[in-house]
Amino acid sequence: MIIDTHCHMYKSEYSNAEEIIKECELKNIKIILNGIDKKSNLEVLELSKKYDNVYAAIGYDHSVVDNISESDIDLLESQLKNDKVIAIGEIGLDYYWVKDNKEEQKKLFKKMLELAERNNLPVIVHSRDAVQDVYDILKKYKIKGSIHCYSGSTEMAKEFIKLGFYIGIDGPITYKNNRKQREMIKKIDINHILVETDSPYLSPEPKRGEKNTPLNITYIIEKIAEELNVSEEEILKITVQNAKNLFNI
Ligand SMILES: [Zn+2]
Repeated sequence: MIIDTHCHMYKSEYSNAEEIIKECELKNIKIILNGIDKKSNLEVLELSKKYDNVYAAIGYDHSVVDNISESDIDLLESQLKNDKVIAIGEIGLDYYWVKDNKEEQKKLFKKMLELAERNNLPVIVHSRDAVQDVYDILKKYKIKGSIHCYSGSTEMAKEFIKLGFYIGIDGPITYKNNRKQREMIKKIDINHILVETDSPYLSPEPKRGEKNTPLNITYIIEKIAEELNVSEEEILKITVQNAKNLFNI
């Protein structure tokens, strides 16, 4: 079994999303689909209901900060009461694209974390150019989760791990210019590493430039195994166990 702990297989992104999901099922690849807004959350719920190998993470991310009302939060909370929903995500802060609404982003992020705490669910966190704020906020809650597509320092990764968080590793680990991340994975606790594709983004080598799919998760596992000098089977075993420790799969 392999678990891709973070991706977005939306129909708007793929003409053959369900074909890919079926192919994953044949290869025993389980997928945690992440929503980011009302529309994608519905799609994630629908696909998780239809396919055994699909699990749902639903939430409101930084991009919809201006469009979420209290009743939308209530709607999300009611959608959590479903066996296939295993996390709140994707949620978080992103100061790379938009810098002038930091306070609004933090407010929504905190609401998502309150929801997670109240419903006893882990979170899947997006953090871009916002790592200190993400950390300062997370440490105030009694929750676990993953820092998805982690690209920060080794020191900060260790701090997140101390909080009980897991570090999500994606396609960029395979990129030639990404030595920093390859050094990082050697220095952090392997029992806190998750593998994910973030499909349709961030295709690993040698698929870079193509639309990513969860089928490419094997290249990420291969690279981690090579860097840590252990077998792929071992990395697979450890990362599946890590995902199971965090998520109810
Ligand atoms: Zn994502």
